[in-house]
Amino acid sequence: SSEERAAQAAAAQADDDAPTIFDKIIAKQIKSDIIYEDDQCLALRDIQPQARARARMAAPVHFLVIPKHRDGLTRLSRAEERHKALLGHLLFVAQLVAKQEGLQPGFRVVINDGPQGCQSVYHLHLHIMGGRQLSWPPG
Ligand code: IMP
Repeated sequence: SSEERAAQAAAAQADDDAPTIFDKIIAKQIKSDIIYEDDQCLALRDIQPQARARARMAAPVHFLVIPKHRDGLTRLSRAEERHKALLGHLLFVAQLVAKQEGLQPGFRVVINDGPQGCQSVYHLHLHIMGGRQLSWPPG
């Protein structure tokens, strides 16, 4: 579909140290719906534009967990030993906020890595999706 092609084009962006939209969200320079925050990370609702809402990936609940300090983690595959505690913390927060969002029946955690993983924002983030019966495998 045209939505899928657009996602793939966005995913083909360079993996460098350029600032991303998430820096502005963290600095509260642009509006976002933050549903959890601590010293290391924040969780916010995904913007879920209409095109995406029609796509297979859409879910009634879709939020992101992002580290406040990217520290070289443009993508998961840039992980180094020093990131291990942060990576664990992000996963812990994912399930904490999932409960807060009423996802007791279950949910999915996704990390898109690189062009083939359809990553579009090069600041590590976890997607948490739920609120309906999900199917498997994803596309
Ligand atoms: P990726 O494709 O795994 O890199 O996911 C990036 C996600 O960030 C997408 O699901 C976008 O919808 C989401 N996103 C991009 N900009 C914003 C924003 O300003 N607020 C909330 N979510 C955003």
